[in-house]
Amino acid sequence: MFIVKRIPIQPIKFINFKTKAIIPKYMAGKQQTIGRFFGGSAAPVVKSSPTKHKISPPSSPALKKQKLGDDEKENAKAKPLTTNLEEIIVKPVENKNEEAQTNPAPPSSSSKIPYSSLTDVMEKIENEPGRLKMIEIISQYFLEILNNHKDIMKLIKIVYLFINRLGPDYEPDLELGLGETLLVKAISECYGRSPSKVKEELKKLGDLGLVAQKSRSRQSTMFKPVSLDIDTVFDNLTKIAKSTGKDSQSRKIGIINKMLNSCDAKSFEAKFLIRSLEGKLRIGLADKTVLTGLAQALLLHENEKNGNGNKRVNPTEIEKAVDIFKEAFTVLPNYQILIEKAYEHGILNLLDHCHITPGIPLKPMLAKPTKSMGEVLDRFQDEKFTCEYKYDGERAQVHLLPDGTVRIYSRNSENMSERYPDLITVIKEFSKTQEHTSMILDCEAVAWDRINEKILPFQVLSTRKRKDVEEKDIKVHICLFAFDLLYYNDQSLITKPLNERREIMIKHLKPLEGKFQFATAKDSTSLEVLQQFLDQSIRDSCEGLMVKMLEGTESYYEPSKRSRNWLKLKKDYLDGVGDSLDLVVIGAYNGKGKRTGAYGGFLLASYNQDTGDLETTCKIGTGFSDEDLANLYQKLHPTEVSNPKSNIVYDKNNANAKPDVWFDPSMLFEILTADLSLSPIYKAAHQQYGKGISLRFPRFIRVRDDKGVEDATSSTEVAEFYERQQHVSGG
Ligand code: ATP
Repeated sequence: MFIVKRIPIQPIKFINFKTKAIIPKYMAGKQQTIGRFFGGSAAPVVKSSPTKHKISPPSSPALKKQKLGDDEKENAKAKPLTTNLEEIIVKPVENKNEEAQTNPAPPSSSSKIPYSSLTDVMEKIENEPGRLKMIEIISQYFLEILNNHKDIMKLIKIVYLFINRLGPDYEPDLELGLGETLLVKAISECYGRSPSKVKEELKKLGDLGLVAQKSRSRQSTMFKPVSLDIDTVFDNLTKIAKSTGKDSQSRKIGIINKMLNSCDAKSFEAKFLIRSLEGKLRIGLADKTVLTGLAQALLLHENEKNGNGNKRVNPTEIEKAVDIFKEAFTVLPNYQILIEKAYEHGILNLLDHCHITPGIPLKPMLAKPTKSMGEVLDRFQDEKFTCEYKYDGERAQVHLLPDGTVRIYSRNSENMSERYPDLITVIKEFSKTQEHTSMILDCEAVAWDRINEKILPFQVLSTRKRKDVEEKDIKVHICLFAFDLLYYNDQSLITKPLNERREIMIKHLKPLEGKFQFATAKDSTSLEVLQQFLDQSIRDSCEGLMVKMLEGTESYYEPSKRSRNWLKLKKDYLDGVGDSLDLVVIGAYNGKGKRTGAYGGFLLASYNQDTGDLETTCKIGTGFSDEDLANLYQKLHPTEVSNPKSNIVYDKNNANAKPDVWFDPSMLFEILTADLSLSPIYKAAHQQYGKGISLRFPRFIRVRDDKGVEDATSSTEVAEFYERQQHVSGG
């Protein structure tokens, strides 16, 4: 726990009750630089008083249960949330210093924040396996920034540097990911080493960031270079990301060289600068951790600002702030807007100021898998529900902005407008003839055979070009199947029941045959009728059905949630566990026989959303063609690392549990499995069962390049598959 009180003109100090360290480790040895860090302004003094100030008891379990959604309830089973928060809260202490209360030193707005303060925190997080501790570290850092810098943009830039982005996910051209060759060139030019030496060291260390840091520390400089600060680094990275066209390579190298020259030899600046430029920060910081740390820091800062820095912060209040911030992010996934609004209106009022907005993709609602029509009927017993065709294409969130602009976003909130110029034309076409000012539609974009007027399989859709698409060259046509309307004419519809949303959609939008249609739907409770509808969906080239709650509050649109109010029933998967799984590739086994020179099998893991861990689930070697294996080797080989990342959970005492090579996890495989069983070797959901769950007879279907590591099938979902199978088989 941390206790915070404000006294002017004092250097910052923190004490951690567990470690008894007076200052955070990332500041260790940095006391002298603190004046520079905070531009000499006053900073909060943090003192320990573990016995005096107790955290209030957790809210009653009954209340808690009511408040939590289903997913959270399941997570809470494994680890009670309140306990987590008690462990990580940065808590203000009673302030007896009157002078400090009446005369707080003003935060500085212009002072520069050394880049090294951020890279020190990054280094600490990289070496920290526990998510709770990571939250503690990051929230302390955010709080210091908030308390000492009026300019909120500094915090926003820091947040983006932590998640290795330069703006929201949906903004194109803000991604880094420079090639190895260019960075090797920059390092060798700047630090006076030959490219071959740099490459040789890279082979040994497996991390260009480390190579840069070592090169920097070996190089002696005559003059002390100008120090790097957060604004300079962020602005330069943005310039690099946006730099295109002729001469862009040399412009980029010029900027990189300047920054590398300014890196402090004794800090981690060169290491993380190069990793940021590569687009691989590798510190294992999940978005959820950043959101939690930010929410805590914003609440604590607010209390300080309102002169309540001396009052105890109730853990329930912190829990509430974290929930609010996360919920706001599902509706408006933009750190800048959220931080500014929370700062202006107070984090606890944030939801009153965050509304879905055309032009900003909200996180899509997701469905839970089911194994049989019987299971669906059990769930929706005595409820009004609807079944829709489950189209096999690509999720498309279509936005019509008041100025007539049309944008299309993917399941992962990427802007796909350039990939689908034909869809933009279709939306503009039907918008022109009808009177819409703005809307957000949830749809599936499906490949369409215009001659035979029928749906084509997903494989055909995936042959479409992803970049530089010209409408005149398009061979694979698309029909957009709309299944939900989330916003219409300046009004959010997400808190209206599905039947009302559907009514508004059908009333105001006119389908265009083969270009824009509504999802085929049937509202019936008869098992026989639904079975026939499922069969018909397959005959019409769909994957099965989506079954959705139709009326009442449970049918509201729940952004980002994998909800039990939407169930997916996929015909092909009914014989297995009801769905395919998307697992993270964390390691591989060297191929033998005709697979020599490539990988012969892979080690896969599920993602534990509570801890951020990757828990091993199975080894897979089936379902790959020779071509698949060759391609996978090419893509995965550069991501090999000598040791597993600290968030990988595997049985260290069992030689069979270790792959021949480990990867820096980045790729997901979609796989099918016959069934799941408890295993002495694998670790998925091990906290729940003592033993982990493993997949039996897994088979590779495809690489899921539209999903990131955090979108992988979670360990909780693996446990759900396992439980359902036990239930169905009466086990
Ligand atoms: P998920 O999106 O659930 O993580 P996934 O990406 O593997 O999993 P599926 O399991 O195939 O996708 O099913 C969910 C997807 O089905 C939705 O994200 C959406 O793109 C698509 N879909 C097709 N038809 C519908 C429909 N009528 N209602 C909702 N979603 C639909």
